Amino acid sequence: MMLTNEERTRLIRLAVEAREHSYAPYSNYKVGAALVTASGKFFSGCNVESAAYPTSMCAERVAIFKAVSEGEREFVALAVVTGNGGTPCGACRQVMAEFGLDTLVLIADVEGNLKQEAKVSDLLPGAFGPRDLGK
Ligand SMILES: [Zn+2]
Repeated sequence: MMLTNEERTRLIRLAVEAREHSYAPYSNYKVGAALVTASGKFFSGCNVESAAYPTSMCAERVAIFKAVSEGEREFVALAVVTGNGGTPCGACRQVMAEFGLDTLVLIADVEGNLKQEAKVSDLLPGAFGPRDLGK
C-alpha cells in the first residue's frame, strides 16, 4: 500500500504532537508515534514511564496497541519522533513485525526532519513471527 505525501506529513505531525504528552520523568527521552491503518484511520501514542522501570511502555507500542484494541490490525506506516531521531527499540520492532513486515517506518526528529525510512523487514531481518507458529 502506498503512503501519500499528505499522510506522511500528517503522521509525523501527529507523532510530534503525541510526543508532547510523553511521560518520561526518568529518562527525559520523550518519544511520540503515530500510525495509519489500511482503513485510513490514524492512531498516536507517547512513551509512558514508571518508577518501576521495566513496566514502562514505548510510544510505538502504545500507538499499535491502541489501534489493535479498536479492531485495527493492518498498518500502512508508522512514524516515530524523538529529540534526536532515534530508532525504535528491539521490542517495538518485534511487535511491528507481528502486524506486517511491509509496514513503512518513518523515523524523524522533533523538528519533523525525516532521518530514516525503512520497512519493518529491514529493521528486523529474519524476524520470528506468526508464521513460525503456523499462523
Ligand atoms: Zn520500543
